[in-house]
Amino acid sequence: MRGPHDSLAVRIARAAEDALEAHAYASLVDVLLGIRWLDTSWWERWQQGRIDTLQEGLQVRPDRLAQAMQLFRDWAESKGLQPHEAVYVARGLERPALRFTYDGEPSVEAQFRTHWLPPSLSDKQRERVIAKSDAAPELVVIMPLNRDWKCHRCGNGGGMLMMEKPGPCCLRCAGLDDLEFLPRGNAQLTRRAKAKSLRSAVVVRFSRARKRYERQGLLLEPLAIAEAGRP
Ligand SMILES: [Zn+2]
Repeated sequence: MRGPHDSLAVRIARAAEDALEAHAYASLVDVLLGIRWLDTSWWERWQQGRIDTLQEGLQVRPDRLAQAMQLFRDWAESKGLQPHEAVYVARGLERPALRFTYDGEPSVEAQFRTHWLPPSLSDKQRERVIAKSDAAPELVVIMPLNRDWKCHRCGNGGGMLMMEKPGPCCLRCAGLDDLEFLPRGNAQLTRRAKAKSLRSAVVVRFSRARKRYERQGLLLEPLAIAEAGRP
């Protein structure tokens, strides 16, 4: 039974176990999302490089965070999990390394980056989990709900944008304006076209109802889409 009065240690262990089941590793971010100290939409914005540190989105005092970090590490070590320090870069053109905390203390940042993997994985499985978790995240292009925006580089607008730290950037300035939009819906065509396209970006739109970004399709090289569509 899940109850609101469970101890922090119990809630952390549960969140970490859910993460292990979902993607074969557990991270501090998984735990913070799981115990609802961190909001998914905040996490997404941080991944897009739109906010400086993840800590800005944590509704919790530093001493409570330190306590949670300790509990999580104790849990991982008690299970004999093996640490792997993962790479976190923003989903942007420049792929800057993401920062978790305000002061960027290296040992704390390292704890955030650490993914704990079950000892039961074979070498091959372990390799696969690490390759997947370390893969550079996909570029994300946003279909804005409001068309009333201006590129921070050239001042133009458009139907899609990339979010950069100074503000929205048009596809031309981002060097993506030669790509074609392939709406979601045909999984086979999408898979084939993506495999043929050297460059790609995920197109998302914010859903007011669900309060999160949802995938709308991909931007791909037009030739790749044409070739994938041929019988
Ligand atoms: Zn521009």
